[in-house]
Amino acid sequence: CSSSTTPITATMFPGDGIGPEIAESVKQVFTTAGVPINWEEHYVSTEIDPRTQSFLTWESLESVRRNKVGLKGPMATPIGKGHRSLNLTLRKELNLYANVRPCYSLPGYKTRYDDVNLITIRENTEGEYSGLEHQVVRGVVESLKIITRQASLRVAEYAFHYAKTHGRERVSAIHKANIMQKTDGLFLKCCREVAEKYPEITYEEVVIDNCCMMLVKNPALFDVLVMPNLYGDIISDLCAGLVGGLGLTPSCNIGEDGVALAEAVHGSAPDIAGKNLANPTALLLSGVMMLRHLKLNEQAEQIHSAIINTIAEGKYRTADLGGTSTTTEFTKAICDHL
Ligand code: ATP
Ligand code: MG
Repeated sequence: CSSSTTPITATMFPGDGIGPEIAESVKQVFTTAGVPINWEEHYVSTEIDPRTQSFLTWESLESVRRNKVGLKGPMATPIGKGHRSLNLTLRKELNLYANVRPCYSLPGYKTRYDDVNLITIRENTEGEYSGLEHQVVRGVVESLKIITRQASLRVAEYAFHYAKTHGRERVSAIHKANIMQKTDGLFLKCCREVAEKYPEITYEEVVIDNCCMMLVKNPALFDVLVMPNLYGDIISDLCAGLVGGLGLTPSCNIGEDGVALAEAVHGSAPDIAGKNLANPTALLLSGVMMLRHLKLNEQAEQIHSAIINTIAEGKYRTADLGGTSTTTEFTKAICDHL
């Protein structure tokens, strides 16, 4: 089932911990499916690159800027002073302003709900993650939450555009504007402004605590959710839990100039790294999101079905899904389904 189109070059960061094992799985599945992609692999360096002040080299960032598309494994930032977090460096340097996390029930893998089908869209550049923390006096510290009109409009615009182009009917802005009147208030104001341009999409505002309760009671109430940085971090993990855990949930970071960097939601899972136990599904599904972004829809659907069918069949599942298969056995089963 190989394609005759000229290959597309995409950046691949295998990353740390279980990263190289699950990246290997993606490469195998993509090769078996005949996906026309050449991977440009970049590893996290062991030394700080003074040009990025981080363990990510300038060349690796340039690779994403040039290719405009990439797949990233989890990266664990080494502890110590004088360098920036790897994930923050990527977000800032590549202007990855929105993090899109689809969350849907996998047919054949039973959880409490079988009708979850929602998308969380997280503002990725500011809010509580501005890194502006300091001590005022001994025993009193301060952390600045930054919300700007520009970043809020940008992520709201992305959310409504996504809803419209993906046949979604509703956008819910998640907030705590009753307490954070200025910051979350501005975020909501921007969402409302954008909502007016999309009369065909229903717009609603939901306070975050109520949102958590509703998600746990009846996740089918939601369609597309858009929210500031920290709320997005928490809500998307909650949503991952609804459909079977971190081993299953993909995401894609959207940047300016059309950059798309897909990545699994989970971290480097140091507890199981190097043991051939990791579930590669989250990174594989992130790869599927990347393929859809590249309009390689046929291969995307083919790989997606092979993953779903393998999990549904139940014969080969990794330990996090209650099975006994290794990463390589599960990967081979997917390839056999292609
Ligand atoms: P990091 O600091 O990089 O986020 P972490 O210690 O928080 O690492 P996570 O990667 O966030 O670890 O994982 C949390 C838990 O979920 C761990 O017990 C890990 O083993 C498990 N887990 C995460 N990803 C996977 C996966 N792909 N397959 C199986 N288990 C996973
Ligand atoms: Mg973690």
